[in-house]
Order: sequence, then structure tokens, then C-alpha cells
Amino acid sequence: MIDARQPDLSGRTRRSGVREAWSIQVIFIRQMEAQIKKLRQTLERECQRNQELQNQNQELRKQLEQKEKSLQALQKRLEELGSDTARTSNESNEMTEFRQSRAAVMAPEPEAEILEITGVQKSSSEKAQIEKAIGKNDFFRRLDEEQMSMMVDLMKLLDYRPAGELKVKQAGRDLRTLSAGDMFGELAILYNCKRTASVRAITPVKLWCIERQTYRSIMTNKSKRKREQIMGFLKTARTLKALNDVQLSKIIDSMEEVKFQENEVIVREGTEGNTFYIILKGEVLVTKKVNGHQKIIRKMGEGEHFGELALIREILRTATCTAVGTVTCFSIDKEVFEETIPFESLELHDDDTFLQEVEKPQKTGSLKSSLKLKDLIPVLYQEGSFQGDPVTLGVGGFGKVELVTTLEDRRYFAMKRISKQHVVAKKQEGHILLEKKILQTIRCDFIVTLHAAFKDSRFVYMIMEFCPGGEVWTKLKEVGRFQENIAVFITACVVEAYAYLHNKGVLYRDLKPENLMLDSKGYVKLVDFGFAKELSWGEKTYSFCGTPEYISPEIIQNQGHDFAADFWSLGVLIFELLVGSPPFSSSDPQKIYAKILDGLLKFPAFMSEASKSIISKLCRPRPGQRLGNTKNGIKDVRNHRWFHSINWHKLRMRQLEAPTVRLIRKGPCYINFDRFPYDKTQAEEEFSGWDCDFCV
Ligand code: ATP
Ligand code: MG
Repeated sequence: MIDARQPDLSGRTRRSGVREAWSIQVIFIRQMEAQIKKLRQTLERECQRNQELQNQNQELRKQLEQKEKSLQALQKRLEELGSDTARTSNESNEMTEFRQSRAAVMAPEPEAEILEITGVQKSSSEKAQIEKAIGKNDFFRRLDEEQMSMMVDLMKLLDYRPAGELKVKQAGRDLRTLSAGDMFGELAILYNCKRTASVRAITPVKLWCIERQTYRSIMTNKSKRKREQIMGFLKTARTLKALNDVQLSKIIDSMEEVKFQENEVIVREGTEGNTFYIILKGEVLVTKKVNGHQKIIRKMGEGEHFGELALIREILRTATCTAVGTVTCFSIDKEVFEETIPFESLELHDDDTFLQEVEKPQKTGSLKSSLKLKDLIPVLYQEGSFQGDPVTLGVGGFGKVELVTTLEDRRYFAMKRISKQHVVAKKQEGHILLEKKILQTIRCDFIVTLHAAFKDSRFVYMIMEFCPGGEVWTKLKEVGRFQENIAVFITACVVEAYAYLHNKGVLYRDLKPENLMLDSKGYVKLVDFGFAKELSWGEKTYSFCGTPEYISPEIIQNQGHDFAADFWSLGVLIFELLVGSPPFSSSDPQKIYAKILDGLLKFPAFMSEASKSIISKLCRPRPGQRLGNTKNGIKDVRNHRWFHSINWHKLRMRQLEAPTVRLIRKGPCYINFDRFPYDKTQAEEEFSGWDCDFCV
């Protein structure tokens, strides 16, 4: 309503009111238009998004189809592998539900008396068929020619009937059918593993087979003979005369096999020389230029060598050496040779670790005598679903490790309890005794201390210092992968443990994060000496042992191994700590072995140059070329730039602040460990007496 009595002001007001109403309408329309525009834009965006989503959807559908296809392929592959998947001799127990850990595998050195085995006569077509079957297998096709022909030669006939078919079954389910040219059971050749499927003949078949002992004996024997033979060849080289057997053996570890085709020039007169060759197979023609003509000097055959001077001096080749037919040589480059020799400076004595050794016995000597089995009482879980049950710290292939304490002064210990009957059944008496024997003599801050050992009618017990920080493995799984400083620190502790052990002539052979424990300060201690072995310098051992992902190529190939195998696994460990998974991995051990033999390291982009460098140097296929096994020994490992932040002296004195300490949780003493249900099954008694000297 407008009040007419109101003077100008009101008119003005009115007019202005009309104008305002008009402008409000205009504003309103503009706003509407703007909103419509906005809505239109939103609609357009939605349409566009919709289109994108549809595209994505299509893309996803495609990916899904691809995934389905690869799933089918994997399924098929799995079925193919069904004949012999890689599981070890470990018996399954309830633990597997709680924790998927990697089990170690072991096959002892083949016995001497079965070394002489003769081959089985075969027609050339039979040979070709076996060769073809072996060639199809990922692992075996990496064997060298000689090993391959030896395998073909040793295959014996299991049954002779017209060729037929075999059916592979797993848990009652048909997996696949095998026919002529297929192979199964391959893993059993390396070590004793549980069959995961059964294979039944559905028509009469003819099978060629080879037993593990035969294969391993032959391979081992061949490797031993080859080493001896090359040693003999090296001894005839004048330049190497001053070297002893250990040094010559190191050279062999560094040498590599090279092949030359017919008429290929191996060394050329007048060119710079830096390689020394020994002829393993074939003939080499030596010629020299005289008055502008090539003059034949002589022909060299198996065992002869050339180019030795190139190892010690800068020289130009004084003759040309040409392959007459195909020639196989064993060779070493000057650079590698210099890293390998002299060995006088090899670190056999490490003063600091020696000091530790002198210092420690008093610390533990008194404990040993005072501890009694009956005084050790189990520590119980205080809460959770296992409340009231004894605390199990870990479960391994043979042992259960429980947390125990003394009533009197509340000291904690880790007690490894091993069923004697189980040990006897698995023929592991020697290993358990050796584990105890070796641990008993060790006094090193980077290795778990054995305080006492006991036995009764059912078990043997090892009472060890308790490492409350838990396994490095558990911590790694918690965080995915470690920051570099943590990995450096953990590895540095392992290097110190290695320095101590190798100096003592002990080979460790089971490095993996599962066997590294953290103490309360976050320092790392090596546990589990189940595969440790005493070895003198220059000696080789031929057993197959370790955890598949960590096994070195020379172990897989039965070539004989030594301390260098520990350095290989150190490289694998660094990789796993930094990446979260090992460099050579697969659910199928055969694939792992094939990858190890290929030796291809694939580094993720986030890894530092220094870490890639140290891993590549530790994981060199030839043991003699591996960092840690070259002429300065373990010093070269310590001096690698990856460790630049480590003050080794302070580390040994335990004066470094451990970056690992922040991984350790506070709470009940078992808080840093996975929980395990208590195994109530009673072990059987065992009285054979193998453990008569077990107590300390
Ligand atoms: P494997 O199958 O690896 O050979 P094993 O039967 O030899 O195993 P160990 O590796 O010695 O047994 O111990 C098994 C687990 O027990 C370790 O991985 C660790 O979790 C735990 N453990 C061993 N020793 C100690 C210790 N001193 N303190 C704390 N926990 C320990
Ligand atoms: Mg272990």
C-alpha cells in the first residue's frame, strides 16, 4: 500500500519503489539466467563425466577381461605345476594359519660311496626326447651343456611299455594330463620335498627317471673334479707359482667360462691384454707375425693357458690365439684378479671382534652353571584369546621357542624346545648337535647368546638370551619396507656378526629377516644356527641348504660353496629390507632358482644408487667376485658408500643410537611377537642316546 499523504519523499519513495521493483525483477531474471547457465554447465559437466565414467567402465571391463584371462592362465599354470609344487619337508601345523613364513630347506652333502654311477644306454631319439623335456623346464634348461648331457645319460628306465598318459591329481581333483615329453617331480632332485599331487598312469607308460642322490652325487662329484682339475692347470702357471691352494681356489671362484666359435680370435697380437685363459675344451692355435707373415708357433690343448702376464703387467699381446674348433675356456680379467689377490691382507683377524670374545665369557660363564631347567617357568599371555597359555615366541622347522623366566630374579630367556623323536625321524641329530656346539662357543654382541642347554626324555632345550624387540621380519611386514637408515643399521649389525663368525671359520647359511632379532636397544642379533657349519679357508661344502629366496647360485648348482654364499644372502637381505620382498621370488621354488641363476636384479625406482651398487656387488654370480669375498674381505663391505653413515667402532661398542628402536612397541614382554596357540600335543619319548652330550 502507498500512502498518498506522504509528501515528496513518499512519491520519490514510490517511484523509486517502482523502479526498484523493476530492477529487482531484472536482477531476478538475471539470477535465473545465471542459474540456468550454471545448471546447464553442471549438466554438461555431468554428461561429460558420465561419458568419462562410461569410458572408464569400458576400460575397466577390458581390464577385468584381461585379468580373468590371466587368472585362467595362472590357474592352468598352477595345474601344470601341480605335479610337484615347492613345499619343503616341514610338516604342516596350526601355525600356518597364523603366519606364512618361509621355511628353510636342506639336503646333506652326497655320500662318497655312491659317487661312481654309470650312465644308461639310450638311442639317439630317446636322448633327443629327454633333452627336449629337460629343455622345457625353467630350472633345468639353465644347466650347462655338460650337466645337461650328464642328466640325459643318467636317466634310467622305470617301466617299458608303449608311450601313454599320466593323470595328475591333487586333493582328489584332476589337475592335468601328462603325455610324452612332459616332466614331473623336478624339485625332488634338489632336496627332499613333500609331494603335493599324485600322478597315476591312465595308460601304460614309459618313464625316464633320475634319483636325487644320483643327480646330486654326480653334480657334486663333477664340480669337485672340475675344481681339482683347474687347480692342477693353475699350478702350472709360472706367474701364479707363489700362491697357495687357498689363493688358487679363490681365483677359481672368480673365473668364468667363455666359449669361442671356430676361427674366432681370442687374443690378438699387439693389442692390450687384460685377460688370462685356461683351455677347458678344444684347441687354440698360437701364431705370430714374422716378416709380415703369420707364423704358426704351436697348438695348445686342454689344460694349457695363455695370457697370464696380462694379469700382473700392462702388456701388449705378443701372439695371436685363435680357436681351432669350438673352444671353451675358463678366464679371469686383470681387474677381477687384482680384487682377488693378494690374500695376505684378507681380513682373517678382526681385533675388535676378538676383543669382544675375550670380554664376554665372564659375563655368561657364571650364568651357565647356575641355571637349572626346573627353575625356568613359562611366561603366560596376560590377555587376548590365548590368555593363560604359555607364550610361544616363534615356531621353526624343528623348534618351538618359548618365553621362560626365573622365579627367583625374574630374568627372561628364550627357550628353544625340540622334540627328540622328531629330530631322529628327520635324521637331524647331527645338525642339532652342531647348532648347539657352534652357539656354545659364540660370544658376540650381534649373535644371540646360549646360556645353557638341557635334555630330558622327550626334548632337548637351548636356553638363549631373550631378544624382546621381536623379529626384523615382523617389523618389516608391519611397515612394508624400511627407510634406508634402518636397513643400513640392521645390515651393519649383520656384517659385524658375519665378521665374527667368518673369522671363527663358521659359515651361517640361513640369513633372512626371520632369523634377525631386535634386542631392547634395537640392536640386531642373529639367531638360528641350524645350518651353520665350520669350514676352513679354501675348503668347500656341498650340501644344499638355506631358504630358497636366499640361496646362492653355486649352492643351487652343487658347485661347492663357502663364505661367499653368506655374502650373496647379505645382498638379498638388503634388497628385501629396502623393498619389502626379496629380489628373486615366486611361489614356486623352481622359479626362484631359475631367477637366481639368471641373476637379473630389478630395482624399483625409489632405491638409491648406493643401495643398488652394494646389492649388485654382493649378488655377483661368481663367488670370487662378490663383495666381502674379494682380497680385502669384509672390509670392502664396511667401506662401501652405502654404509657411510655408520661409525663401525661405535656400533661395536653399542654406542650408536639404533634407528630401529622406534619399531619396538612397549607393553607386555611378548608384545613385539606374533602370537601362537599353545601346542598341547605331547612329544614321544626317545632314548637312542644321540643327545648324550647335549647339556651345558
Ligand atoms: P627354522 O625353521 O628357521 O630353522 P628353528 O626351528 O631353527 O627355525 P629358530 O629360528 O631358532 O628356530 O627360532 C624360531 C623363532 O623363534 C625365531 O624366528 C624367533 O621368532 C624366535 N626366537 C628364536 N630365538 C629367539 C630369542 N633368543 N629371543 C626371542 N625370540 C627368539
Ligand atoms: Mg629360524
